[in-house]
Amino acid sequence: MAVTLTNFTPVGFTPIGGALHVGEDGALAAHAAPGATVVDCNGAYLSPGWCDLHVHVWYGGTDISVRAARAGRQTGVTAMADAGSAGEATFHGLREYVIDAHRETIKAFINIGSIGLTACNRVSELSDARSIDVDRTLEAIDRHRDVICGIKVRASGVIVGSWGAGPLRIAKHVAQMAGLPLMVHIGESPPVIDEVLDILTPGDIVTHCFNGKRGGSIIDTPQIFERAKQVARDGVLMDVGHGFASFNFRTARAAIEGGLIPHSISTDIHARNVDGPVFDLATTASKLLAVGLPLEDCIKAITTHPREVIGLQGPGLGSKADFTVFDVVEGDLDVVDSQGNRLGLSRTFEPRMTLIGTDLQPAARSVAH
Ligand SMILES: [Zn+2]
Repeated sequence: MAVTLTNFTPVGFTPIGGALHVGEDGALAAHAAPGATVVDCNGAYLSPGWCDLHVHVWYGGTDISVRAARAGRQTGVTAMADAGSAGEATFHGLREYVIDAHRETIKAFINIGSIGLTACNRVSELSDARSIDVDRTLEAIDRHRDVICGIKVRASGVIVGSWGAGPLRIAKHVAQMAGLPLMVHIGESPPVIDEVLDILTPGDIVTHCFNGKRGGSIIDTPQIFERAKQVARDGVLMDVGHGFASFNFRTARAAIEGGLIPHSISTDIHARNVDGPVFDLATTASKLLAVGLPLEDCIKAITTHPREVIGLQGPGLGSKADFTVFDVVEGDLDVVDSQGNRLGLSRTFEPRMTLIGTDLQPAARSVAH
């Protein structure tokens, strides 16, 4: 059944006229179809569908993932990228059982380690040279290129041990061969952050950019912070990737005040943070708003910016409808960061609905506070 949305404030796109029309085929149309269901958005924002650039949704294929539905439309998210849950050995399962089985757009960064996050942080995906198979990784990329949006590597001492920057260099090499961006997890050295930033080129992504880990944070020293700002100006994309241990209010506030604006806000949602401190993308975006990121930048960072990274074009006539309806409301919500620091939020993002094609579904922030 065709749908027409009325009474909304558009952000991140320009509608034709004052309403949004979706035909029976689920594509955007210039005029209302006869008999279309008319939905009043009560003045809420209407944006291209929210996109979470760092999630773990290979449920059943890893011990750490949540079901994609939990990260998806029920919380206002219509598009997401799994960040390295699957490597070449398990990617076909992620494809068949998760990516192809959901209405949300799901893309993935393939882990450079063959086993991905099967037994996350118990069996390292990068213990030695046998952990990586370049040929098979390139084959998996060829086979699943329509859903692979990059390569993921966890450049972290606890994962790579004495291998240091080795996996990072191999991952960058494979990414360049495949013509894909590299997403690097930062936090625990070695490798040290300078070494990571030196390897990245425009279009690559630093996730956990506002982690508060001493020795792994972009505000460890003024020199590192200046270097981070420089690579961001050059086109390396800074991604929040909140996670269980990787988002710190003080780091975020200092970095934003110092002029480092994150390109994307993502959750790194997984089984160990979904019931706090992360909860969902709306709560994460509300935290960024509270530490000084302007509203417009927050909205871009959960809509157009991450959508571009995973290859989703802006809405135009004839394109499939993919939208989120949300409010930003005054309120009073206590939240914590990954180190347990508390913060009171006075404004929160509240998703109301998502529209994919002609399918309109209710959405809400997960309230488990
Ligand atoms: Zn992650």
